[in-house]
Amino acid sequence: MKARIITPILFFPLLLSACQNGPSALSRDERQLIKESGDVMRVLTIDDPSDSLILRSISKDFSLKDLQSDELALLSEKLISTVRSPEQDGVGIAGPQVGIFRRIVAVQRFDKEGSPFEVYPNISILECRGPKEAGAEGCLSVPNRRGEVFRYRDIDIKYSLKDGRDTVETVKGFTAVIFQHECDHLEGIIYTDRISGN
Ligand code: ZN
Repeated sequence: MKARIITPILFFPLLLSACQNGPSALSRDERQLIKESGDVMRVLTIDDPSDSLILRSISKDFSLKDLQSDELALLSEKLISTVRSPEQDGVGIAGPQVGIFRRIVAVQRFDKEGSPFEVYPNISILECRGPKEAGAEGCLSVPNRRGEVFRYRDIDIKYSLKDGRDTVETVKGFTAVIFQHECDHLEGIIYTDRISGN
């Protein structure tokens, strides 16, 4: 998610086939992309017709073996380098935005001291509470635009620890908004889809 950009557009979802989203081992292509890309990975954008199509794909979980792999550690570092890079300057990023269709997001934790970026594999949102509230959003994959989206401010997230155990955490405030925006990417949803019909 990008904090500061301009003008909303409507963007209608392409209904792509929802492939299986259970865990499977990282493919050779995925490993290669993770290893061979620079620290700052290329971010897919809806301005590119091919990128725009594949950003609608559904992401899969990591297998237990991949949770403990060097590739996941490297991907985590590169997601953070990418979202923090001066050309992006974002507050969150999801795997599909760098071409890795796995359930992983990096989020800036404004609810923690020092606002660190943290990475969450096999993430999902378990529960949302309270009313939705409007807030301005931008996206690294939707360059130079910004729009108002209604999101919850109190959610429970679930993600996997390195040993494969799942953990549940409550997140509140603007950080909860970032998690909802990034988790949408894992379902092929872009924030502009939510601008109308809230
Ligand atoms: Zn985004």
